[in-house]
Amino acid sequence: MSDSLKTQTLQDRLDRLQELEEFTENCKKQLNDIFETLGWSRDNSNQEAMEQCPYDPNHRVPVRSMEKHKTSCSRRKMGYSAEEEAEMFDPSVCYENSSVRSFTMDKSTQHQVILQARSAAPLMRMEGVFWQGQYSGQPVDVPENHKRAVCDLTVADRLALYDHVVGVLNQQKEAASSNNDDLYVDLVSKLQKDEQQNEPKTHLELMAEMRDYKRRRQSYRAKNVHITKKSYTE
Ligand SMILES: [Zn+2]
Repeated sequence: MSDSLKTQTLQDRLDRLQELEEFTENCKKQLNDIFETLGWSRDNSNQEAMEQCPYDPNHRVPVRSMEKHKTSCSRRKMGYSAEEEAEMFDPSVCYENSSVRSFTMDKSTQHQVILQARSAAPLMRMEGVFWQGQYSGQPVDVPENHKRAVCDLTVADRLALYDHVVGVLNQQKEAASSNNDDLYVDLVSKLQKDEQQNEPKTHLELMAEMRDYKRRRQSYRAKNVHITKKSYTE
């Protein structure tokens, strides 16, 4: 009885071994097929250079896709879900070759702007203005979608950032328009020409006309002293 049990067990074990061997053979064949279909080599010697991800030491990433991985990995570390990330896109391409100015916010600028607005705000609660308690005290990651902008930044923060961006862009605009073409135009000849052609006048030409009109009027008034003074009965 014990003999037959032993044989049976041994036979069982041999069968199991056979089964496992067939299974691994089958797996190996499947893997080989996949590698062949993809044109990959199982040879490790020509593997490409890998780097460690700065956000997670467990990530080993091919050097060529590191930038893409870093963007995605840092978002994941900040708590953005894959669904949220799928809805994000880099809008910078829309501003290439266009006159629309854009501003890219970074974390330290954002913090500086908020601190500055905070220090200019009243210390205590005040009606009608933001006071210091309504600003973020700690640096906040730059929000990458609307939900984060609303949740991570206070209303006061967002107004301060808006004012800052508008201010910077207006400065850029002024700097650009100070090289105004009007400065290099011969206004007299242009005015004469315009009168003949009856073209609509530019803002600068209208200002020049107004200036001349005021000069004429002043000169007229100065020469007619007796009518510039009012009598008591007037
Ligand atoms: Zn990573």
